[in-house]
Amino acid sequence: METATKQLLQTYPILQKMSRYEKIFWKNPHDQEHEELPFSQASIFDAAARWDRFAPYLETVFPETRAAHGMIESPLIPIPGMKKAWEAENQTRLRGDLFLKADHLLPVSGSIKSRGGIYEVLKFAEKVALSAGDLTFMDDYSVLASERYRRLFSQYGIAVGSTGNLGLSIGTAAASFGFRTTVHMSADARQWKKDLLRARGVTVIEHPGDFTEAVTKGRAQAAADPKTHFIDDESSTDLFLGYAVAAIRLQKQLKDQHICVDADHPLFVYLPAGVGGSPGGVTFGLKQILGPHGHSIFVEPTHVPSVTLGMITGLNETISVYDLGLDGKTRADGLAVARPSALVGRVMRTLLTGAATFDDQELFRYLALLADTQHLFVEPSAAAGFTGIRPVLDAFGNSDQATHIVWATGGSLVPETERKQDYQTGKKLING
Ligand SMILES: *Cc1c(COP(=O)(O)O)cnc(C)c1O
Repeated sequence: METATKQLLQTYPILQKMSRYEKIFWKNPHDQEHEELPFSQASIFDAAARWDRFAPYLETVFPETRAAHGMIESPLIPIPGMKKAWEAENQTRLRGDLFLKADHLLPVSGSIKSRGGIYEVLKFAEKVALSAGDLTFMDDYSVLASERYRRLFSQYGIAVGSTGNLGLSIGTAAASFGFRTTVHMSADARQWKKDLLRARGVTVIEHPGDFTEAVTKGRAQAAADPKTHFIDDESSTDLFLGYAVAAIRLQKQLKDQHICVDADHPLFVYLPAGVGGSPGGVTFGLKQILGPHGHSIFVEPTHVPSVTLGMITGLNETISVYDLGLDGKTRADGLAVARPSALVGRVMRTLLTGAATFDDQELFRYLALLADTQHLFVEPSAAAGFTGIRPVLDAFGNSDQATHIVWATGGSLVPETERKQDYQTGKKLING
């Protein structure tokens, strides 16, 4: 082991447990400290206004968004049956209420990536249409689906590196405009995701290495072409703000369901973290829109706790889980990211409440319990939030006035055969 790593293990003893793949809960010591942030509430409303301008376009090209008039949003679902199952599984009463933020039902990619990924594509399309086309901000943006605009967009490219879901969201959105679209996939990406993208006219390049490598290669290839926009999951502000808009929508959903968030009624939101962009963006939004009593908890695999490691040490993207001797392997798609985002750890420094790690097996148990009790299927990573509740009760108390929201980050596009396998894996674990 490197001397630098040995020193870190001494300075931060919690890393010793992490290096042995043991589960941990880390309470962020800098939570709620004052710090200047790189963006404000106004940045989130700027993003929300852009989503609104594009609603007529989205409604035109993605018919599944028609019912919501081109808004891409997911329901907030009470899950009392799952709450009982969670209590039995943990042999603990959960005094607060339990909800699922059902991002697995988001249109286009069936995952939380529909928020950030599509948003950055929209922003690029708007820029091109304003500067090289004749679009004005007041136009009905469904004009962007016309043959005339498709010809314009076909002169430009969009590229991204992904473990799967981000590629699915960006690839689909970019192809809808007619952009030349390239998705660089890491080795762990599922075959069905590559097949689906190719069927949608996207060029999929498969890389033998991990996520970090796919992003690095993709970034280098895109840099050679001045008309190609590379969407950089390791540092993008646009992705981040696209995710943050979720908080504005959630605020309304909370009110509609008579859920109060204040000092006596804390809200805990459980978010799985890969590179950290989606949970970071949502957390930034929560703090800006709901205030200090909306608490975010990140959850990560014991084998790949990259964002947690970066934040504990303050080294962020300059440290990877390999430096801790971990193998970086998980069955949770999207969470196999060894090195965290360069943006997120910094912005989260004073906004994140805590982080918990979990064993992969837990995901399959919760996934099967959710299917049995609520007839909702989510992919393994999207069940991760349920693992964060127990350590939060231990650290912050088990209040009957608290609300717990597990963010279900993906799963509605998973093919039936894989769903069955994941469910069976969970059932076997439950039945011992
Ligand atoms: C991408 C993804 C995450 C994590 O998001 P990051 O922005 O990589 O932190 C969690 N769950 C699912 C299903 C995902 O696709």
